Amino acid sequence: MKKILALVLAVMLALLTFAGCGGQKTEADKPESTGKTLIMATNASFPPYEFKDGDAIVGIDAEIAGEIANKLGMELEIQDVKFDSIITGVQTGKFDIGMAGMTVTEERLKNVSFSDTYAKGVQVIIVKEDSEIAGPGDLDGAMIGVQQSTTGHIYASEQYGEDHITAFDTGNDAVQALVADKVAAVIIDNEPAKSYVASNPGLKILDTAYAEEDYAICVSKDNPELLDQINGALAELTADGTISRIIEKYIPAE
Ligand code: GLN
Repeated sequence: MKKILALVLAVMLALLTFAGCGGQKTEADKPESTGKTLIMATNASFPPYEFKDGDAIVGIDAEIAGEIANKLGMELEIQDVKFDSIITGVQTGKFDIGMAGMTVTEERLKNVSFSDTYAKGVQVIIVKEDSEIAGPGDLDGAMIGVQQSTTGHIYASEQYGEDHITAFDTGNDAVQALVADKVAAVIIDNEPAKSYVASNPGLKILDTAYAEEDYAICVSKDNPELLDQINGALAELTADGTISRIIEKYIPAE
């Protein structure tokens, strides 16, 4: 009897050990935690790339950054800051990365490094539904609303002159100024434009695309190692379909 009991116990122990191993194996599939935090700076007024859902910052960038952090064995922390303080914050090491539907430009490349691109953006013009402005050519002399330091701001001031531009802290502020007739048009990226037009009746997006751009993650020039890790993670997330799945979740194919 004792022998049988010992045998049963031995079998149970073996099973438990196996179960334990099984558990460890799945754990091993997840990269080991480094205990480090990846600090991402964004401007959470750029739907569907980043926006607030209650207190949480959600959207395409938030989710992609979460997947990258996971691959690097890091915890993601997102800080909501003004768009024009993202690059300086990354340069000074206050933030590890900047991810804000941020367009790669020659000018920005002088100050920070950019990862491989993960999405495309198009600058568009939003006007009131009954506006006489039908294309970029009609903007001469009009007051144009933009978001401070964005590519929309840069292009518009180069083409129409800073005197014809009113720059706001967020895209939403620029759109509210259009609703209140304080500006005649807003130049902004297409996806947030669609979202703002959907939530503010009486506005439309003009058909003419203004400029096409690539979005990427900015990293300090002093941190090439992190840049490599991010590009590695992005390549894996592209190859296994994670990036397209996240983008399609927020921008369903029409
Ligand atoms: N893509 C634009 C830029 O990089 C706008 C980004 C944003 O407003 N978050 O300037």
